[in-house]
Amino acid sequence: MARPKDKIFLWINRRWCKRCGICVAVCPTKVIEIEKSGYPVLAHMDKCIDCGMCVIMCPDFAIFDDQEDKKLLAKIL
Ligand code: SF4
Ligand code: SF4
Repeated sequence: MARPKDKIFLWINRRWCKRCGICVAVCPTKVIEIEKSGYPVLAHMDKCIDCGMCVIMCPDFAIFDDQEDKKLLAKIL
C-alpha cells in the first residue's frame, strides 16, 4: 500500500546497478531519469506514487524502499 508522501523512501544502490534502464521504463510517473554516466537517478520524487514497480522489477535488487534495509546493507558493503 502506498505510503504518505512524507514517508516515501527510495534509494538506488549503484554498486549493484548494471544501468539497464528497466526502472526508468517501468515507472508510471517518470520519476527516474538516466544521468550521463548511465546510472538512474530519482530525479522527480515529488511525482512518486510509491507503487513499488521499480523495486520489484529491478533485476539486480538495487532499489530499496526501506531505510532500515539501507542501513543493514551499509554494514556489509
Ligand atoms: S533496474 Fe536496477 S539495475 Fe537496472 S538501471 Fe534500474 S536500478 Fe539499475
Ligand atoms: S515507486 Fe513507482 S512511482 Fe515511485 S519511482 Fe518507483 S516505479 Fe516510480
